[in-house]
Amino acid sequence: MTTDSVPAKFQGFASSNKNTWNKPKLVSYDRKQINPHDVVLENEVCGLCYSDIHTLQSNWGEYNRDDLVVGHEIVGKVIAVGDKVTELKVGQRVGIGAASSACRECNRCKSDNEQYCAKAASTYNAPDVRSNNYVTQGGYSSHSIADEQFVFPIPDDLPSAYAAPLMCAGITVFSPLLRNLGSDAKGKTVGIIGIGGLGHLALQLAKALGAKVVAFSRTSSKKDQALKLGADEFIATNEEKDWSSKYHDTFDFILNCASGVDGLNLQDYLSVLKVDKKFISVGLPPATQQFGVSPFTFLKHGASFGSSLLGSKVEVLEMLKLAAKHNVKPWIEEVPLSEENCSKALNRCHDGDVRYRFVFTEFDKAFAK
Ligand code: NDP
Ligand code: ZN
Repeated sequence: MTTDSVPAKFQGFASSNKNTWNKPKLVSYDRKQINPHDVVLENEVCGLCYSDIHTLQSNWGEYNRDDLVVGHEIVGKVIAVGDKVTELKVGQRVGIGAASSACRECNRCKSDNEQYCAKAASTYNAPDVRSNNYVTQGGYSSHSIADEQFVFPIPDDLPSAYAAPLMCAGITVFSPLLRNLGSDAKGKTVGIIGIGGLGHLALQLAKALGAKVVAFSRTSSKKDQALKLGADEFIATNEEKDWSSKYHDTFDFILNCASGVDGLNLQDYLSVLKVDKKFISVGLPPATQQFGVSPFTFLKHGASFGSSLLGSKVEVLEMLKLAAKHNVKPWIEEVPLSEENCSKALNRCHDGDVRYRFVFTEFDKAFAK
């Protein structure tokens, strides 16, 4: 393997602790070692996922380094590959999502559930046991390194800034939609809660699978846009107090994409499922917040409750095909990467002021060569 093209130090926009979560500074740091299955990218763009904010605010746990770079909707160009890489080549345009490596040996890794590997490493803030516990760094950075199982070829006609949000937001909603509805969802009614980065892609992808789609949002402010995104109906849950009795026994599947639990009454959502159906939450609140629900609510509807983490490489490739066929595209606001713009975008996303995904761009200007 030749690594001449890979600098020893990478550059990125880092925060040191939760008090400065929205003030990342440009830093340089030693890169991770390149393992035999690793692919090295020169990054071109990176989306801003609410998980970046949860992590920067320590909502889910502590920082594992004091120069933490987040970002896990990465698209860039391959500049080097490890000796055992077979699927990707130098020069190719590829993406990385929220996980960057796994053991490759366990039952989950061998059955297209590699994202659930007990030894998987997240793309940032995760000690990687295969790299001397190097704490991984995200994509608000000049370069990224990930195992090829977590690196996805981007179709030529999909611009990088539009591909980026599919790497986390897209696959996170597509995997549970596909696993619960199958590839032909005609005749099924699906509810999507929380119309943000994940939710606006869930509306489009559920529609592309053929389902009837109902958007749940706290207020009516996103109604027109949700209908444009593919929703057949829209419910403003804080404004239509009787929605749950009106929609009793309607849904084949409900996917929660909300980043918090404010106003989210699980009892209401379970009561609008048909019998034996599921409510899956991909949305994750701060670790201290919980859903409250009585066991009797499950009983009355034969309902199940679950969660879902990212998606497998096989599912990412299937999603990219479906997205191309049905013209599924994120609605994005492009932001040239800089300290000031990072800070502005983090604050605005935190305040719900984005329709529907920030994507950092112009990486060539952000980093000195
Ligand atoms: P966004 O901020 O883009 O969207 C979240 C939406 O949730 C908002 O648009 C809003 O929808 C609703 N919302 C916001 N704040 C609250 C609150 N306090 N209580 C209830 N609802 C709220 O976030 P993302 O789409 O980027 O991420 C959504 C969630 O998914 C996050 O928790 C993120 O960490 C998680 N996630 C999970 C993954 C997984 O593998 N399971 C992977 C990636 C992300 P509206 O205005 O319509 O009510
Ligand atoms: Zn994410």
